[in-house]
Amino acid sequence: MSEPVADASADQPAAMVRLRVAVDTPQHSGLTGPLDYLSPQPLAPGSLVRVPLGRRELMGIVWPGEPSGDTDPALLRPILSALDGLPPLSAAWCQLVEFAASYYQRSVGEVALSVLPPQLRELDGQKLKLRLKRVAKLGAESRGAQAEAGRAAAAQPPELSPAQAEVLRQLDEMLTSPAPAPVLLYGITGSGKTEVYLRAAEHALQQGRQVLVLVPEINLTPQLEARFAERFADRSIVSLHSGLTPALRLRHWLAAHLGEAELVLGTRLAVFASMPRLGLIVVDEEHDPSYKQQDGARYSARDLAVYRAHLEKLPVILGSATPSLESWQRANEGRYKRLALPGRIGGGALPKVRLFDMKLLPLSKGVTTALTRPLIEALRSRLERGEQSLIFLNRRGYAPVLHCGECNWKSDCPHCSAWRVFHKGDRTLRCHHCGFTERVPSACPTCGNQDIAPLGRGTERLEEQLAETFPEARVARIDADSTKHKGQLEAQLQAVHAGEVDILVGTQMITKGHDFRGITLVAAINPDGALFSSDFRAPERLFALLMQAGGRAGRDAAQAARSEMWVQTWHPEHALYKALAKHDFEAFAASQLAERESAGLPPYAHLALLRAEGRTAEAAKGFLDAAAAFAQQMPEAAQVLVYPCIPMSVARVANVERMQMLVEASNRSALQRLLWHWMPELHALKREHKGLLRWAVDVDPLAI
Ligand code: ADP
Ligand code: ZN
Ligand code: ZN
Repeated sequence: MSEPVADASADQPAAMVRLRVAVDTPQHSGLTGPLDYLSPQPLAPGSLVRVPLGRRELMGIVWPGEPSGDTDPALLRPILSALDGLPPLSAAWCQLVEFAASYYQRSVGEVALSVLPPQLRELDGQKLKLRLKRVAKLGAESRGAQAEAGRAAAAQPPELSPAQAEVLRQLDEMLTSPAPAPVLLYGITGSGKTEVYLRAAEHALQQGRQVLVLVPEINLTPQLEARFAERFADRSIVSLHSGLTPALRLRHWLAAHLGEAELVLGTRLAVFASMPRLGLIVVDEEHDPSYKQQDGARYSARDLAVYRAHLEKLPVILGSATPSLESWQRANEGRYKRLALPGRIGGGALPKVRLFDMKLLPLSKGVTTALTRPLIEALRSRLERGEQSLIFLNRRGYAPVLHCGECNWKSDCPHCSAWRVFHKGDRTLRCHHCGFTERVPSACPTCGNQDIAPLGRGTERLEEQLAETFPEARVARIDADSTKHKGQLEAQLQAVHAGEVDILVGTQMITKGHDFRGITLVAAINPDGALFSSDFRAPERLFALLMQAGGRAGRDAAQAARSEMWVQTWHPEHALYKALAKHDFEAFAASQLAERESAGLPPYAHLALLRAEGRTAEAAKGFLDAAAAFAQQMPEAAQVLVYPCIPMSVARVANVERMQMLVEASNRSALQRLLWHWMPELHALKREHKGLLRWAVDVDPLAI
């Protein structure tokens, strides 16, 4: 046994103990693990402390495990204070963070601190005590109020359908199993998945456990929260997402951490919520790309939810009508348990899909019309019956580019390799990549021609055309532009629900989750782009999007029979559309998986992307080439394929050139080993490549 630290040098206070503390060290420092500090008293792992780092004072977390011991104790600095009063973060929480940091190649301290509420990082012991008191007091009050409300209006749950009952029976079995496998709950929109979440949650709550429910987007939380709040009127429910005020986010986080909150509903960051009695995790719309964080530690909250469930031996339910091919494949292999809900509740049919062949239109000069005659007829018949229609176009603004017919000038962005989009509403040209905005010129900036024209079509233009075609109809548009201000989205959705809108135009914002009752026609007017994208996941995303959009129609069983989903395409014979027409996700998944397998793509291979940004493309390329050269001579290289680097699809953004390099391995751990040994070298390489601004690695990237 080694000597206790207490015997160290004479000027060292007698009782100093060595601690490991996770602090947010800058990524480039190359310090990836916790650092050693001294403390006058032992502190439990998971305790929050304030420590000095360089000349700064930072929040840190006492980390489990033995201090490294290699630093001379005389060089170690003592912690400044401990935030006692806050129960320590659990060992499982620390392990989740440690896994995320190592898997996504970031430092433990960075991940740990970045997933705590920002206000928590700023608190001292005094302020923390006040906050804790508030949470306890609010908890008691809301429990009182909710118990009151609960007696008054606890919503009666519906009788389960036989399929739901069977799914729940199997889930209950798992709830009590010592190490349950993840469940893939597969069922179309309206098949009753949410009802299953509610029941499973109820069972976990009855056992005194906490429940974590993840949704892909903030604007879906209020809706789900309302449904949970209605069912669990006597339970304490909090939300966790980046749209909360810092004070509220801290309060909700503390409520979860103290075990006061029984249900936590949140977006991807909530996967890191500290929940001491966690008993069930639900990931709704598990296929949704929003679960992947796009900067810093680029984690997948869906994948971390599965890891967390495995770690804490809990059931996790991944729900979707169009599961990710990764999850689908795992279910095929039996690693996930697939439970299916066939058909809509009440037997409502899915909308009939009509693939409209654009090649059948008479050829005309210029832009083909989006509002084809048959579509106009279909819309008109809805209007006459007082039903609603939804038109989906994944491009906002009036037109993607302005064009001068005389000199061929186009509204390019001076800072990006992209066009600036014409927004008619505020008469601006706006770059959707860097934000550069100018008023629309009244004449061509190059030749002075006054007749510059918009090319192509965005939601704004479609809205205008619809209003012209149907002067009597109430047309509304929902996209990022129409919902910039707080409350706008809610108000617009409310208008749709209240039947104050006849035709709704929008981007993918309107395809997700909303339970519109009066819609009997959904039209995708130009979805072909994704069929020929260089991103191998584009068809998977398109299929999910169209299934989801279609799911907006005929939610009301009475109308389901005459609901239609209209797809205008130049490629009606494409396998994706054929499968869509039959609502056949399984056929689509099987054909995609076969393609992926023969091409050696995920889920049959594992990918990482190394991205580099430089003032010049050469600088970015120089760094990536050097990185590749280094990787080639590592022992792990035998099992890993490093592709030549290529410019990103939008190569220049805000005057920064962006390149990426794909790394592929058939075996996950080989890829992990390579990355692990590669990272320190990349930090060193950055210093040699002066023109390089930033680099980052994205493990399991979603967009290629
Ligand atoms: P999903 O989450 O798969 O879209 P939901 O759980 O939202 O499906 O169910 C669709 C609709 O059917 C909702 O309005 C819901 O209240 C209702 N519903 C769900 N299960 C039942 C049931 N067993 N009996 C009656 N109505 C149900
Ligand atoms: Zn011109
Ligand atoms: Zn730009």
